[in-house]
Amino acid sequence: MIVELAGVKLTYQSPDGEVPALAGIDLVIDAGEFISVVGPSGCGKSTLLNIIAGLETPDSGTVSVGGRPLHGPSRTVGYMPQKDGLFPWRSIWGNVTLGLEIAGENTPERQETVRQLLSRYGLADFASKSPAELSGGMRQRCALIRTLACGPELLLLDEAFSALDYQTRLAVSADIYSIIRREKKTAILVTHDISEAVSLSDRIVLLTRRPAQIKKIYSLEELRGIPPLERRDHPAFRAFFNAIWKELDVHV
Ligand code: ADP
Ligand code: MG
Repeated sequence: MIVELAGVKLTYQSPDGEVPALAGIDLVIDAGEFISVVGPSGCGKSTLLNIIAGLETPDSGTVSVGGRPLHGPSRTVGYMPQKDGLFPWRSIWGNVTLGLEIAGENTPERQETVRQLLSRYGLADFASKSPAELSGGMRQRCALIRTLACGPELLLLDEAFSALDYQTRLAVSADIYSIIRREKKTAILVTHDISEAVSLSDRIVLLTRRPAQIKKIYSLEELRGIPPLERRDHPAFRAFFNAIWKELDVHV
């Protein structure tokens, strides 16, 4: 397995008092799995992802990645935020190699890997352009390549597609899915969009309201191996969507 969480709890200390965010999470994720985490707004999804990224430390419980206990950020883990986070004053090349610069690994070998990723995913001709010259989908692909440049095994995506309009979101999420599969990475996607989760995942982890516990884990066996856009026409798609929607604790 690549990720193992056991009894993970976290309570934030804020000026207004304690905010319990995670109430005991046990989860094992295998190498190569695509997992989505869904749950009501504010339930602790980003907190869970930040813990796996090594950005937050749980009050109790253990987290291991790649069989080793996690102590802070690790290069095995790549994080892709909600906004693409590209710097407008840097070229695309300057942006996709930024992580390598920060890690002090901007070597010719690594640069060659980045060049291959750019060309494999249709961005080679855009290396010297600025982010403003690219479409939202291309920018998201750049953000993923920047994350892949450092060679992570596990990718964490926090609402990675939610800044895009609906049409673009469908296309970009399918695109990013195929890149993650082709590069044989493990992925954990936090999303509030159930249909996005059903179209992309091997398993879906449904959280309760805050403080989050795992309410249910859905294994999408019938949909495995089917690409995201085709899944939406599969009878199992609606069945999973409805089952999760019913369980999701949304109040309007
Ligand atoms: P989600 O991503 O599911 O919307 P979060 O994990 O971001 O939820 O947050 C869970 C809860 O913890 C929310 O109620 C949020 O307001 C609170 N929270 C998040 N970060 C902090 C923090 N640094 N200090 C205090 N409370 C926080
Ligand atoms: Mg969040």
